[in-house]
Amino acid sequence: MKHQSYSIHNYQNIDQFSKFSKEQREAIEVVSKVFPFKTNNYVTDKLIDWDNFEDDPMFILNFPQKDMLQDNHYNQMLDLIRRGADKKEVYSLANDIRRQLNPHPAGQESNVPFLNGEKLLGIQHKYKETVLFFPTQGQTCHAYCTFCFRWPQFTNMDELKFAMKQSNLLTEYLENNQSVSDLLITGGDPMVMNINNLKAYIEPILNSHSHNLNTIRIGTKSLSFWPDRFINDKDSEDVLRLFEKVSKSGLQLALMAHINHPRELSTKAVQEAIRRIRNTGVQIRTQSPLLNHINNKPELWSRMWRHQVALGLIPYYMFIARDTGAQHYFGTSLKKSIQIFSRAYSQVSGLARTVRGPSMSADPGKVQIAGVTKIRNQKVFVLNFLQGRNPDWVNKPFFAEYDENAKWLDELVPFEDDRFFFEDEFDEIKEKQDKKIVRIDNYKTTA
Ligand SMILES: *Cc1c(COP(=O)(O)O)cnc(C)c1O
Ligand code: SF4
Repeated sequence: MKHQSYSIHNYQNIDQFSKFSKEQREAIEVVSKVFPFKTNNYVTDKLIDWDNFEDDPMFILNFPQKDMLQDNHYNQMLDLIRRGADKKEVYSLANDIRRQLNPHPAGQESNVPFLNGEKLLGIQHKYKETVLFFPTQGQTCHAYCTFCFRWPQFTNMDELKFAMKQSNLLTEYLENNQSVSDLLITGGDPMVMNINNLKAYIEPILNSHSHNLNTIRIGTKSLSFWPDRFINDKDSEDVLRLFEKVSKSGLQLALMAHINHPRELSTKAVQEAIRRIRNTGVQIRTQSPLLNHINNKPELWSRMWRHQVALGLIPYYMFIARDTGAQHYFGTSLKKSIQIFSRAYSQVSGLARTVRGPSMSADPGKVQIAGVTKIRNQKVFVLNFLQGRNPDWVNKPFFAEYDENAKWLDELVPFEDDRFFFEDEFDEIKEKQDKKIVRIDNYKTTA
Protein backbone atom coordinates (compact mmCIF):
# COMPACT_ATOMS: atom_id res chain seq x y z
CA MET A 1 0.00 0.00 0.00
CA LYS A 2 1.32 3.44 -0.88
CA HIS A 3 0.97 5.82 2.04
CA GLN A 4 -1.56 8.56 1.43
CA SER A 5 -1.95 11.14 4.15
CA TYR A 6 -5.06 13.29 4.57
CA SER A 7 -5.57 16.47 6.55
CA ILE A 8 -8.30 19.09 6.64
CA HIS A 9 -6.92 20.48 3.35
CA ASN A 10 -7.34 17.34 1.24
CA TYR A 11 -9.66 14.98 3.10
CA GLN A 12 -12.21 15.65 0.35
CA ASN A 13 -10.13 13.15 -1.63
CA ILE A 14 -10.77 10.12 0.55
CA ASP A 15 -12.85 7.53 -1.29
CA GLN A 16 -15.65 7.64 1.25
CA PHE A 17 -16.02 11.43 1.36
CA SER A 18 -19.41 11.39 -0.40
CA LYS A 19 -20.85 9.60 2.65
CA PHE A 20 -20.40 12.66 4.86
CA SER A 21 -23.47 14.80 5.45
CA LYS A 22 -23.27 18.59 5.40
CA GLU A 23 -23.34 18.59 9.22
CA GLN A 24 -20.46 16.15 9.43
CA ARG A 25 -18.30 18.20 7.11
CA GLU A 26 -19.08 21.26 9.15
CA ALA A 27 -18.16 19.46 12.38
CA ILE A 28 -14.86 18.25 10.93
CA GLU A 29 -13.95 21.73 9.73
CA VAL A 30 -14.90 23.45 12.98
CA VAL A 31 -13.35 20.97 15.40
CA SER A 32 -10.15 20.56 13.40
CA LYS A 33 -9.46 24.27 13.91
CA VAL A 34 -8.83 23.45 17.57
CA PHE A 35 -7.68 19.82 17.61
CA PRO A 36 -5.25 18.33 15.09
CA PHE A 37 -6.69 16.11 12.36
CA LYS A 38 -4.77 13.70 10.18
CA THR A 39 -5.69 10.33 8.74
CA ASN A 40 -4.37 7.94 6.10
CA ASN A 41 -5.58 5.43 3.54
CA TYR A 42 -4.90 2.38 5.75
CA VAL A 43 -7.16 3.75 8.49
CA THR A 44 -9.90 4.81 6.07
CA ASP A 45 -9.78 1.67 3.90
CA LYS A 46 -8.96 -1.11 6.37
CA LEU A 47 -10.07 -0.02 9.84
CA ILE A 48 -13.20 2.13 9.59
CA ASP A 49 -16.55 0.41 9.10
CA TRP A 50 -18.20 2.80 6.64
CA ASP A 51 -21.59 1.04 6.74
CA ASN A 52 -22.12 2.40 10.19
CA PHE A 53 -19.43 5.04 10.45
CA GLU A 54 -21.23 7.62 12.65
CA ASP A 55 -20.99 5.26 15.61
CA ASP A 56 -17.91 3.41 14.50
CA PRO A 57 -15.15 3.45 17.13
CA MET A 58 -12.42 3.61 14.49
CA PHE A 59 -14.11 6.61 12.88
CA ILE A 60 -14.49 8.35 16.23
CA LEU A 61 -10.86 7.54 17.03
CA ASN A 62 -9.62 9.33 13.93
CA PHE A 63 -12.13 11.93 12.70
CA PRO A 64 -13.00 15.06 14.73
CA GLN A 65 -16.42 14.82 16.39
CA LYS A 66 -18.78 17.73 16.99
CA ASP A 67 -19.16 17.00 20.70
CA MET A 68 -15.42 17.13 21.29
CA LEU A 69 -15.94 20.87 21.65
CA GLN A 70 -18.30 22.33 24.22
CA ASP A 71 -21.30 23.98 22.56
CA ASN A 72 -20.18 27.55 23.25
CA HIS A 73 -16.72 26.92 21.82
CA TYR A 74 -18.18 25.14 18.82
CA ASN A 75 -20.59 27.95 18.07
CA GLN A 76 -17.97 30.67 18.49
CA MET A 77 -15.74 28.95 15.99
CA LEU A 78 -18.60 28.21 13.61
CA ASP A 79 -19.57 31.90 13.63
CA LEU A 80 -16.06 32.97 12.70
CA ILE A 81 -15.88 30.49 9.83
CA ARG A 82 -19.37 31.44 8.56
CA ARG A 83 -18.56 35.09 8.36
CA GLY A 84 -15.29 34.33 6.59
CA ALA A 85 -13.01 35.66 9.32
CA ASP A 86 -9.35 35.82 8.41
CA LYS A 87 -6.80 33.22 9.45
CA LYS A 88 -5.42 35.34 12.24
CA GLU A 89 -8.77 35.69 13.95
CA VAL A 90 -9.51 31.96 13.66
CA TYR A 91 -6.06 31.12 14.99
CA SER A 92 -6.47 33.45 17.93
CA LEU A 93 -9.85 31.99 18.95
CA ALA A 94 -8.46 28.46 18.51
CA ASN A 95 -5.63 29.29 20.91
CA ASP A 96 -8.06 30.86 23.37
CA ILE A 97 -10.10 27.66 23.42
CA ARG A 98 -6.99 25.48 23.65
CA ARG A 99 -5.75 27.40 26.65
CA GLN A 100 -8.98 26.52 28.44
CA LEU A 101 -8.40 22.82 27.80
CA ASN A 102 -5.38 22.23 30.03
CA PRO A 103 -2.88 21.79 27.18
CA HIS A 104 0.00 20.66 29.43
CA PRO A 105 -1.40 18.20 31.94
CA ALA A 106 0.55 16.51 34.75
CA GLY A 107 3.32 19.10 34.97
CA GLN A 108 5.30 17.81 32.01
CA GLU A 109 7.51 20.91 31.91
CA SER A 110 8.80 20.12 35.36
CA ASN A 111 10.16 16.76 34.16
CA VAL A 112 12.72 18.39 31.89
CA PRO A 113 16.17 17.70 33.36
CA PHE A 114 19.49 19.48 33.21
CA LEU A 115 22.92 18.34 32.08
CA ASN A 116 25.95 20.45 33.00
CA GLY A 117 23.57 23.27 33.86
CA GLU A 118 21.83 23.12 30.50
CA LYS A 119 18.14 22.35 30.04
CA LEU A 120 17.58 19.21 27.93
CA LEU A 121 14.41 20.05 26.04
CA GLY A 122 14.05 16.65 24.33
CA ILE A 123 14.20 14.66 27.54
CA GLN A 124 11.73 14.09 30.36
CA HIS A 125 12.89 12.30 33.47
CA LYS A 126 10.15 11.81 36.04
CA TYR A 127 10.66 8.30 37.42
CA LYS A 128 14.08 7.21 38.51
CA GLU A 129 14.49 4.19 36.22
CA THR A 130 12.98 5.51 33.01
CA VAL A 131 14.00 8.40 30.76
CA LEU A 132 11.67 9.64 28.04
CA PHE A 133 13.28 10.89 24.85
CA PHE A 134 11.45 12.92 22.19
CA PRO A 135 13.47 12.84 18.93
CA THR A 136 12.77 15.91 16.79
CA GLN A 137 11.86 13.94 13.68
CA GLY A 138 9.45 11.66 15.55
CA GLN A 139 7.05 14.33 16.79
CA THR A 140 4.22 13.47 14.44
CA CYS A 141 2.14 10.34 13.77
CA HIS A 142 0.90 8.45 10.70
CA ALA A 143 -2.60 9.47 11.77
CA TYR A 144 -3.79 11.36 14.83
CA CYS A 145 -6.04 9.97 17.53
CA THR A 146 -8.89 12.35 18.32
CA PHE A 147 -8.33 11.92 22.08
CA CYS A 148 -4.56 12.46 21.91
CA PHE A 149 -3.15 13.93 25.13
CA ARG A 150 -0.14 15.26 23.26
CA TRP A 151 -2.43 17.23 20.96
CA PRO A 152 -0.78 20.65 21.52
CA GLN A 153 2.39 19.24 19.94
CA PHE A 154 0.59 18.87 16.65
CA THR A 155 -0.90 22.34 16.62
CA ASN A 156 1.29 25.34 16.06
CA MET A 157 0.60 26.71 19.52
CA ASP A 158 3.26 24.72 21.26
CA GLU A 159 6.40 26.75 21.75
CA LEU A 160 7.84 24.17 24.06
CA LYS A 161 8.04 21.20 21.75
CA PHE A 162 9.79 18.55 23.72
CA ALA A 163 12.27 17.79 21.04
CA MET A 164 15.96 17.94 20.51
CA LYS A 165 18.40 16.92 17.89
CA GLN A 166 21.53 15.85 19.62
CA SER A 167 21.62 12.16 20.35
CA ASN A 168 25.06 12.58 21.93
CA LEU A 169 23.49 14.62 24.71
CA LEU A 170 21.08 11.76 25.29
CA THR A 171 23.90 9.24 25.52
CA GLU A 172 25.81 11.54 27.86
CA TYR A 173 22.74 11.95 30.04
CA LEU A 174 22.32 8.17 30.28
CA GLU A 175 25.99 7.79 31.19
CA ASN A 176 25.58 10.42 33.91
CA ASN A 177 22.46 8.79 35.37
CA GLN A 178 23.33 5.25 36.30
CA SER A 179 19.95 4.63 37.94
CA VAL A 180 18.32 4.64 34.50
CA SER A 181 17.55 1.13 33.22
CA ASP A 182 14.94 2.08 30.61
CA LEU A 183 14.99 4.53 27.76
CA LEU A 184 11.56 5.22 26.27
CA ILE A 185 11.76 6.83 22.84
CA THR A 186 8.46 8.51 22.25
CA GLY A 187 6.60 11.27 20.41
CA GLY A 188 4.37 11.62 18.48
CA ASP A 189 5.49 8.33 17.03
CA PRO A 190 9.22 7.62 16.61
CA MET A 191 8.38 5.03 13.94
CA VAL A 192 7.50 7.83 11.50
CA MET A 193 11.27 8.43 11.35
CA ASN A 194 13.23 6.99 8.46
CA ILE A 195 15.92 4.40 9.03
CA ASN A 196 18.75 6.95 9.03
CA ASN A 197 17.21 8.93 11.86
CA LEU A 198 16.33 5.80 13.83
CA LYS A 199 19.93 4.64 13.50
CA ALA A 200 21.29 8.06 14.44
CA TYR A 201 19.50 7.87 17.79
CA ILE A 202 19.82 4.17 18.60
CA GLU A 203 23.31 3.20 17.40
CA PRO A 204 25.27 5.59 19.67
CA ILE A 205 23.49 3.95 22.60
CA LEU A 206 24.55 0.50 21.41
CA ASN A 207 28.10 1.78 21.01
CA SER A 208 28.32 3.27 24.47
CA HIS A 209 29.18 0.88 27.25
CA SER A 210 29.09 3.27 30.17
CA HIS A 211 25.34 3.56 30.63
CA ASN A 212 23.29 1.17 32.70
CA LEU A 213 20.38 0.49 30.31
CA ASN A 214 18.57 -2.84 30.10
CA THR A 215 15.80 -1.89 27.75
CA ILE A 216 15.04 0.53 24.97
CA ARG A 217 11.33 1.03 24.53
CA ILE A 218 9.74 2.65 21.48
CA GLY A 219 6.22 4.01 21.95
CA THR A 220 4.30 3.63 18.70
CA LYS A 221 0.90 3.60 17.05
CA SER A 222 2.36 2.59 13.69
CA LEU A 223 1.64 -1.09 14.26
CA SER A 224 -2.08 -0.40 13.99
CA PHE A 225 -2.19 2.87 12.00
CA TRP A 226 0.46 1.93 9.43
CA PRO A 227 1.60 -1.73 9.70
CA ASP A 228 3.32 -1.41 6.33
CA ARG A 229 6.03 0.39 8.28
CA PHE A 230 7.28 -3.14 9.03
CA ILE A 231 6.37 -4.77 5.71
CA ASN A 232 6.41 -2.71 2.51
CA ASP A 233 7.91 0.71 3.18
CA LYS A 234 11.16 1.17 1.31
CA ASP A 235 13.22 0.88 4.49
CA SER A 236 11.08 -1.76 6.28
CA GLU A 237 13.77 -4.41 5.96
CA ASP A 238 16.37 -2.02 7.39
CA VAL A 239 14.09 -1.27 10.34
CA LEU A 240 13.79 -4.97 11.11
CA ARG A 241 17.57 -5.40 10.80
CA LEU A 242 18.08 -2.54 13.25
CA PHE A 243 15.67 -4.20 15.69
CA GLU A 244 17.68 -7.40 15.35
CA LYS A 245 20.90 -5.54 15.97
CA VAL A 246 19.57 -4.15 19.25
CA SER A 247 18.37 -7.59 20.37
CA LYS A 248 21.76 -9.10 19.56
CA SER A 249 23.62 -6.33 21.39
CA GLY A 250 22.31 -7.67 24.70
CA LEU A 251 19.82 -4.84 25.21
CA GLN A 252 16.12 -5.59 25.09
CA LEU A 253 14.01 -3.68 22.61
CA ALA A 254 10.34 -3.37 23.51
CA LEU A 255 7.77 -1.88 21.18
CA MET A 256 5.09 -0.21 23.30
CA ALA A 257 2.18 -0.55 20.90
CA HIS A 258 -0.75 1.75 21.32
CA ILE A 259 -3.90 -0.27 20.53
CA ASN A 260 -7.36 1.01 21.44
CA HIS A 261 -9.77 -1.47 19.91
CA PRO A 262 -9.78 -5.17 18.93
CA ARG A 263 -10.44 -4.29 15.29
CA GLU A 264 -6.94 -2.86 15.03
CA LEU A 265 -5.61 -6.42 15.45
CA SER A 266 -7.86 -7.95 12.82
CA THR A 267 -6.15 -7.13 9.51
CA LYS A 268 -3.74 -9.38 7.63
CA ALA A 269 -1.24 -6.52 7.57
CA VAL A 270 -1.09 -5.99 11.34
CA GLN A 271 -0.69 -9.72 11.94
CA GLU A 272 2.11 -9.92 9.38
CA ALA A 273 3.82 -6.91 10.96
CA ILE A 274 3.61 -8.51 14.42
CA ARG A 275 5.09 -11.75 13.09
CA ARG A 276 8.01 -9.92 11.47
CA ILE A 277 8.75 -7.80 14.52
CA ARG A 278 8.65 -10.76 16.90
CA ASN A 279 11.04 -12.64 14.61
CA THR A 280 13.68 -10.01 15.32
CA GLY A 281 13.62 -10.82 19.05
CA VAL A 282 11.72 -7.65 19.87
CA GLN A 283 8.98 -7.76 22.46
CA ILE A 284 5.64 -6.03 21.89
CA ARG A 285 3.74 -4.66 24.88
CA THR A 286 0.40 -2.90 24.53
CA GLN A 287 -1.33 0.03 26.15
CA SER A 288 -4.42 2.15 25.72
CA PRO A 289 -6.56 4.64 27.55
CA LEU A 290 -10.15 3.78 28.40
CA LEU A 291 -12.34 5.97 26.21
CA ASN A 292 -16.01 6.75 25.99
CA HIS A 293 -17.40 6.17 22.47
CA ILE A 294 -14.41 3.97 21.58
CA ASN A 295 -13.72 1.17 24.03
CA ASN A 296 -15.85 1.63 27.17
CA LYS A 297 -17.06 -1.99 27.41
CA PRO A 298 -15.46 -4.73 29.52
CA GLU A 299 -16.08 -7.47 26.93
CA LEU A 300 -14.22 -5.43 24.35
CA TRP A 301 -11.14 -5.24 26.61
CA SER A 302 -11.15 -8.91 27.55
CA ARG A 303 -11.51 -9.84 23.87
CA MET A 304 -8.70 -7.44 22.97
CA TRP A 305 -6.32 -8.71 25.68
CA ARG A 306 -7.02 -12.34 24.76
CA HIS A 307 -6.36 -11.65 21.11
CA GLN A 308 -3.17 -9.81 22.02
CA VAL A 309 -1.89 -12.78 24.00
CA ALA A 310 -2.84 -15.10 21.13
CA LEU A 311 -0.70 -12.97 18.80
CA GLY A 312 2.23 -12.97 21.23
CA LEU A 313 1.73 -9.42 22.57
CA ILE A 314 1.93 -8.55 26.27
CA PRO A 315 -0.90 -6.40 27.70
CA TYR A 316 0.72 -3.67 29.79
CA TYR A 317 -1.39 -0.63 30.73
CA MET A 318 -4.99 0.55 30.80
CA PHE A 319 -4.96 4.32 31.36
CA ILE A 320 -7.69 6.64 32.51
CA ALA A 321 -8.28 9.43 29.95
CA ARG A 322 -6.22 12.45 30.96
CA ASP A 323 -7.54 15.76 32.19
CA THR A 324 -6.84 17.55 28.93
CA GLY A 325 -8.42 18.38 25.57
CA ALA A 326 -11.77 16.72 24.98
CA GLN A 327 -11.82 14.87 28.31
CA HIS A 328 -15.51 15.78 28.76
CA TYR A 329 -16.21 13.68 25.66
CA PHE A 330 -13.79 10.76 26.01
CA GLY A 331 -13.29 10.56 29.78
CA THR A 332 -15.01 7.98 31.96
CA SER A 333 -15.62 8.31 35.69
CA LEU A 334 -13.19 6.55 38.01
CA LYS A 335 -16.11 4.49 39.23
CA LYS A 336 -16.87 3.25 35.73
CA SER A 337 -13.19 2.73 34.93
CA ILE A 338 -12.63 0.33 37.81
CA GLN A 339 -15.86 -1.52 36.98
CA ILE A 340 -14.79 -2.02 33.38
CA PHE A 341 -11.23 -2.97 34.27
CA SER A 342 -12.23 -5.48 36.95
CA ARG A 343 -14.83 -7.16 34.83
CA ALA A 344 -12.47 -7.47 31.86
CA TYR A 345 -9.55 -8.59 34.04
CA SER A 346 -11.64 -11.30 35.68
CA GLN A 347 -12.46 -12.81 32.29
CA VAL A 348 -8.94 -13.51 31.02
CA SER A 349 -6.26 -16.03 31.88
CA GLY A 350 -3.26 -15.15 33.98
CA LEU A 351 -1.16 -14.54 30.89
CA ALA A 352 -3.28 -11.49 30.03
CA ARG A 353 -3.20 -10.24 33.62
CA THR A 354 0.15 -8.63 33.00
CA VAL A 355 -1.99 -5.56 32.35
CA ARG A 356 -2.02 -2.88 35.05
CA GLY A 357 -4.63 -0.26 35.66
CA PRO A 358 -6.82 1.57 35.42
CA SER A 359 -4.14 4.17 35.99
CA MET A 360 -4.01 7.96 36.04
CA SER A 361 -0.76 9.55 34.84
CA ALA A 362 -0.99 12.41 37.32
CA ASP A 363 1.60 14.93 38.47
CA PRO A 364 2.72 12.97 41.58
CA GLY A 365 2.86 9.68 39.68
CA LYS A 366 0.90 6.89 38.09
CA VAL A 367 -2.01 6.27 40.43
CA GLN A 368 -4.01 3.09 40.02
CA ILE A 369 -7.61 2.69 41.14
CA ALA A 370 -7.07 -0.64 42.83
CA GLY A 371 -10.70 -1.11 43.80
CA VAL A 372 -13.72 0.02 45.76
CA THR A 373 -14.29 -1.25 49.28
CA LYS A 374 -15.88 -0.29 52.58
CA ILE A 375 -14.27 0.93 55.78
CA ARG A 376 -16.59 0.99 58.78
CA ASN A 377 -19.54 0.98 56.41
CA GLN A 378 -18.27 3.85 54.32
CA LYS A 379 -17.48 3.32 50.66
CA VAL A 380 -13.93 4.25 49.59
CA PHE A 381 -11.67 4.07 46.57
CA VAL A 382 -8.48 2.11 47.15
CA LEU A 383 -5.63 3.87 45.36
CA ASN A 384 -2.09 2.75 44.73
CA PHE A 385 0.99 4.33 43.14
CA LEU A 386 2.36 2.24 40.25
CA GLN A 387 5.05 4.91 39.79
CA GLY A 388 5.83 7.88 41.98
CA ARG A 389 7.99 10.97 41.78
CA ASN A 390 9.34 9.54 44.99
CA PRO A 391 9.76 5.76 44.54
CA ASP A 392 8.93 5.26 48.23
CA TRP A 393 5.29 6.04 47.49
CA VAL A 394 4.90 2.98 45.30
CA ASN A 395 2.74 0.06 46.39
CA LYS A 396 1.35 1.64 49.56
CA PRO A 397 -2.42 1.41 49.16
CA PHE A 398 -4.32 4.49 50.38
CA PHE A 399 -7.94 5.59 50.50
CA ALA A 400 -10.12 8.32 49.08
CA GLU A 401 -13.78 9.02 49.70
CA TYR A 402 -15.94 7.31 47.13
CA ASP A 403 -17.22 9.78 44.55
CA GLU A 404 -19.26 8.46 41.69
CA ASN A 405 -18.64 11.42 39.42
CA ALA A 406 -14.91 11.99 39.92
CA LYS A 407 -12.83 11.61 36.75
CA TRP A 408 -9.35 12.49 38.03
CA LEU A 409 -7.14 12.41 41.11
CA ASP A 410 -7.50 16.14 41.86
CA GLU A 411 -11.24 15.66 42.42
CA LEU A 412 -10.70 13.08 45.14
CA VAL A 413 -10.78 13.77 48.89
CA PRO A 414 -8.65 11.75 51.33
CA PHE A 415 -10.59 9.38 53.54
CA GLU A 416 -10.48 10.51 57.21
CA ASP A 417 -7.45 12.69 56.65
CA ASP A 418 -6.68 16.28 55.65
CA ARG A 419 -4.21 15.36 52.97
CA PHE A 420 -3.08 12.28 51.09
CA PHE A 421 0.05 10.73 52.62
CA PHE A 422 2.33 11.93 49.82
CA GLU A 423 1.16 15.52 49.50
CA ASP A 424 3.58 17.27 51.86
CA GLU A 425 6.52 15.62 50.20
CA PHE A 426 5.11 16.30 46.77
CA ASP A 427 4.89 20.02 47.63
CA GLU A 428 8.56 19.95 48.62
CA ILE A 429 9.55 18.28 45.36
CA LYS A 430 7.59 20.84 43.33
CA GLU A 431 9.20 23.67 45.25
CA LYS A 432 12.68 22.35 44.50
CA GLN A 433 11.76 21.91 40.86
CA ASP A 434 10.58 25.51 40.70
CA LYS A 435 14.01 26.52 41.95
CA LYS A 436 15.50 24.16 39.35
CA ILE A 437 17.79 22.50 41.81
CA VAL A 438 16.43 19.00 41.60
CA ARG A 439 18.02 16.00 39.96
CA ILE A 440 15.91 12.91 39.86
CA ASP A 441 18.41 10.64 41.57
CA ASN A 442 18.86 13.21 44.34
CA TYR A 443 15.26 13.05 45.50
CA LYS A 444 15.17 12.71 49.23
CA THR A 445 13.73 9.35 50.08
CA THR A 446 12.20 8.55 53.43
CA ALA A 447 13.54 5.01 53.66
C1 LIG B 1 4.56 5.77 32.39
C2 LIG B 1 5.74 6.58 32.38
C3 LIG B 1 7.00 5.99 32.42
C4 LIG B 1 7.21 4.48 32.42
O1 LIG B 1 6.72 3.87 33.58
P1 LIG B 1 6.75 2.29 33.68
O2 LIG B 1 5.93 1.94 34.89
O3 LIG B 1 8.17 1.86 33.82
O4 LIG B 1 6.15 1.75 32.44
C5 LIG B 1 8.10 6.83 32.45
N1 LIG B 1 7.98 8.18 32.46
C6 LIG B 1 6.78 8.78 32.44
C7 LIG B 1 6.71 10.28 32.49
C8 LIG B 1 5.62 8.01 32.40
O5 LIG B 1 4.42 8.61 32.38
S1 SF4 C 1 -0.49 7.85 18.38
FE1 SF4 C 1 -0.20 8.75 20.42
S2 SF4 C 1 0.85 10.69 20.05
FE2 SF4 C 1 0.00 10.02 18.08
S3 SF4 C 1 -2.01 10.97 17.94
FE3 SF4 C 1 -2.35 8.97 18.86
S4 SF4 C 1 -2.27 9.32 21.08
FE4 SF4 C 1 -1.35 11.10 20.07
